[in-house]
Amino acid sequence: MLRVGLSGGIGSGKSTVAQRLSELGATVIDADQLAREAVGPGSEGLAAIAVRFGDDVLDDTGALNRSALGELVFADPQARRDLEAITHPLIARRTRELIAAVAPDAIVVHDVPLLVEKAMGSAYHLVIIVGADEETRVKRLMHSRGMTEADVRSRIAAQASDEQRREAADVWLDNDGPRDDLLAALDELWHERLVPFEHNVRHGIRSHRPEGLALHPTDPTWPQQAQRMLARLRAAWGEELVSADHIGSTAVPGLVAKDVLDLQLGVRSLDDADGEDVRARLDAAGFPRAAGVYADFDRGSDGTWPKRMHGNADPARVAHIHIREAGSAGWRWALMFRDWMRADPQARLEYAAEKARIAASGVTATEYAEAKEPWFDAVHERAEAWARETGWEPQGG
Ligand code: ADP
Repeated sequence: MLRVGLSGGIGSGKSTVAQRLSELGATVIDADQLAREAVGPGSEGLAAIAVRFGDDVLDDTGALNRSALGELVFADPQARRDLEAITHPLIARRTRELIAAVAPDAIVVHDVPLLVEKAMGSAYHLVIIVGADEETRVKRLMHSRGMTEADVRSRIAAQASDEQRREAADVWLDNDGPRDDLLAALDELWHERLVPFEHNVRHGIRSHRPEGLALHPTDPTWPQQAQRMLARLRAAWGEELVSADHIGSTAVPGLVAKDVLDLQLGVRSLDDADGEDVRARLDAAGFPRAAGVYADFDRGSDGTWPKRMHGNADPARVAHIHIREAGSAGWRWALMFRDWMRADPQARLEYAAEKARIAASGVTATEYAEAKEPWFDAVHERAEAWARETGWEPQGG
């Protein structure tokens, strides 16, 4: 099963997207609809509201008078919290029931207007945001829903900004153009990403980097992509995870890199990482274990540094997740190297030059990783000296 979160500002085209995904075969759960059902006639929610707010919020037939309740909670933050304390658990329970009932290979799309405002992204494998310019949205809503311009603009102002939405979006669907363009982009997303992603999650398959080596110029969205994955990993792992960090070249602004995100999870002991429950949760979250035995090369001390490796089931985002014991030499080195690279422009240039030199020799991605090792050995002492001089201490996030 794949869990997809769908959101977008009012008038962006979110309902249009939900409708199309449903036609393509997704199971759509509409949070607004569940919210209405939670307080529908005869519901547990409506009874609780009547007890808390009195008959003034009911109409003559005993149904909810939405505008009366709306006015009440708009003016009184405590009333709003009380209302949410009634409705949220009911909506959450119904959502869980609906998800529990879907087929094992379902692609569930959860349509949630306030997904970004409520910071819910880590509950999904993927977040899709539909976006359109404010002017476009104003025009569409005035035309289709008969809303006044002032009403549309005040609603837009009360919602998350586009910048906040972009941070939350794994996929940004631009809907400023014709509807057919949106639908074509969705069809491609469905077939090229969502369907194979679901298959990968269900079968514990991770995406692989292409063997042909390609270095990318620095991508300013890498850190945001990494933060979204780290939030999902923390949510899947739970309290016992000691640290979760974006490491490697994609964590260093300005550095060329393979388009592969490196993430480091710090654990108390590798036994924690081998626990059945944790592994099942990582599998379900789309971060399956990589087969094989992994250890980092020794730098400075004797022996190797064992680790576990996981990957990402998303076919459009290759990631290498390194699980190391928090406080171990390998864990510390990854953080130190990243921070040294961020701090020292000269070292960054040298590393970029070394990468370019190796890439130009026509190696594969695997050979490239190995070919970098002598350079790491050569700069090890410099990085350590930088750490001593600056008083650097590892700070796992
Ligand atoms: P939301 O659910 O995000 O509020 P809707 O999907 O209801 O937005 O879209 C708002 C209105 O704009 C609807 O009337 C819809 O048919 C229309 N619409 C959506 N996308 C486009 C588009 N690309 N071009 C023109 N009209 C569109």
